[in-house]
Amino acid sequence: MADYDPDNIFAKILRNEIPSTRVFEDDETLAFMDIMPRSDGHLLVIPKSPCRNVLDATPEQLVAVMKTVQKMAQAAKAAFDADGVTIQQFNEAAGGQEVFHLHFHVLPRYEDVSMRPPGKMGDFDQIAQHAEKIKAAL
Ligand code: AMP
Repeated sequence: MADYDPDNIFAKILRNEIPSTRVFEDDETLAFMDIMPRSDGHLLVIPKSPCRNVLDATPEQLVAVMKTVQKMAQAAKAAFDADGVTIQQFNEAAGGQEVFHLHFHVLPRYEDVSMRPPGKMGDFDQIAQHAEKIKAAL
């Protein structure tokens, strides 16, 4: 497996070198909105410390991230009055991973509503509004 690349896009978000729409952070984790949302309220949770994915994460990183994943899943479900929440996580390119800093997707879901296709940029103002709804539910 390749080494962690400190110039990956989420490392740049952590260093505030590129913008993001943050919804929650603590000492060990950050949650921010996905720019290509596959459902309203689609957000990502990452550790603040470096690791590529589940395969090289420490138990401590996984515990911290999963605590925030649960917190954000509960808040996003409440904010969007969703029926359920999908949590996705990919490991290495063959596993579907595109950004090589550990992240979990949190997606509010409704009965009989499919996720939108990947790769379509969201509307910035709408994503900002969705972030405010999630923050209010925290
Ligand atoms: P994957 O590694 O397959 O989980 O995909 C990376 C995810 O990161 C995709 O859902 C992208 O929409 C999302 N993404 C990529 N760049 C950014 C960014 N600058 N801000 C927020 N989300 C991003």
